[in-house]
Amino acid sequence: MNIQEIVNHQKDFFKTQQTKSIKFRKMYLEKLKNIVINNEELLYEAIDKDFGKSRFDTFTTEISFILNDINYYLKNINSLSKPRKVRTNLANQLGKSRIHSEPLGNVLVIGAWNYPYQLSFSPVIAALAAGNCCILKPSEIAENTMKLMAKLINENFPPEYLYVYEGGIDETTELLKLKFDKIFFTGSTRVGKIVYQAAAEHLTPVVLELGGKSPVIVSKDADLEVAAKRIVWGKFLNAGQTCVAPDYLLVEEPVREQFLEMLRKYITEFKYAPDADSYTRIINRKNFDRLIKLINRDKIYFGGNSDETKLFIEPTLLNNVNWEDEIMQEEIFGPILPIISFTNFNLAINTILELEKPLSAYLFTRNSEEKGIFTSKLSFGGGCINDVIMHLGNHRLPFGGVGNSGIGSYHGSYGFEAFSHQKSVLEKSTWGEPDIKYPPYSDKKLSWIRKLL
Ligand code: NAD
Repeated sequence: MNIQEIVNHQKDFFKTQQTKSIKFRKMYLEKLKNIVINNEELLYEAIDKDFGKSRFDTFTTEISFILNDINYYLKNINSLSKPRKVRTNLANQLGKSRIHSEPLGNVLVIGAWNYPYQLSFSPVIAALAAGNCCILKPSEIAENTMKLMAKLINENFPPEYLYVYEGGIDETTELLKLKFDKIFFTGSTRVGKIVYQAAAEHLTPVVLELGGKSPVIVSKDADLEVAAKRIVWGKFLNAGQTCVAPDYLLVEEPVREQFLEMLRKYITEFKYAPDADSYTRIINRKNFDRLIKLINRDKIYFGGNSDETKLFIEPTLLNNVNWEDEIMQEEIFGPILPIISFTNFNLAINTILELEKPLSAYLFTRNSEEKGIFTSKLSFGGGCINDVIMHLGNHRLPFGGVGNSGIGSYHGSYGFEAFSHQKSVLEKSTWGEPDIKYPPYSDKKLSWIRKLL
């Protein structure tokens, strides 16, 4: 079967209305949960082959996410699917107003390679929970995980309901010519624009989960020890290949030297090394070469070593970086942290305001005025005060970008909404309606209408 035929089968299957049954959705969510639990070892092996990701990181940032998502929907699917009553205005009396969450139909999920399981399965889980049929196209860059996801899903799910389509740019280009009811894309802003253009041909709505340069600001009023420890963890997790990782650091000049020392201390303490279980490799040679070029050797404060045979790049701190430096022109997506100092908090915020809106922003401070300025002045997808990355671990917070970093959001109930249409239905009583809206019109009717509306 070619992909066009599979999409056609999914369209036919959706029309049977079977996916609208809550029992059906729960059955397949349970099935997916069992597939993940029963194949945990295979999931670890494949991701280790792709980029040396440890069992610890794979469990905490991928498998536990997926299982939590499934459990969340299993528990909440009834209430999320239930029609919501809202008040009816005077002009619509006697009537009842309800909002029905209905599945969109046939959706496409395109995943990225850096958290291959989470970024592929989390949107798929939300799509199925909301009652859709789904095609998943994982990233071909993480080849082993893509092949494993295809095997596990395609051997266990009916293709007319959920199907994993393997492939790269050519296959995705083909796929994007077809008509879907929603496209959920995770990846770069560059490819996000290609997806958006293709979707426009069919007026298909999109969620675009993109990237960008996410700042972390450390004020002189921060708890510096806590800031250093958390920033080192968040920046070098997955070797910096995390969409919400702090991309660059703005530190207040009076504490810069002290803070750099602390960063060095934690990098050393965390023992990142080519064969360390707690450190991931760079995904491929192309990205390795790109990242090595970004390391300006004159600005290295710490690190800078690499091993191309192992695709290892040491956690690297670059000091005295300028906004004009090459590393500040694009998203880094690797274990290099450029550091720029500032002397005035407001000016630092204003500088960030001049740039594209980032996916995330982080501030370390104990100063409530600075917290207020950060939250009210800066626009970013989501972020933290006194931490990094962890906001995406709370399913009650919508996760997504703004401006160049994305369109739409998901996680928890927001994921369900992303794959649902909110259908409004007004049910009117067949009696008790005054005649005033019907012709022939009169001044008296208008005066009543004025009072009513
Ligand atoms: P990418 O844009 O290169 O690829 C993403 C997907 O698009 C892949 O499945 C790929 O096959 C497909 N693709 C690539 N080129 C294409 C083309 N020309 N036409 C059609 N499809 C194409 O991104 P990536 O390298 O996999 O991931 C890195 C980027 O993703 C970073 O910018 C990162 O910030 C972002 N990201 C965002 C999130 C988020 O949740 N917002 C999560 C992870 C990664």
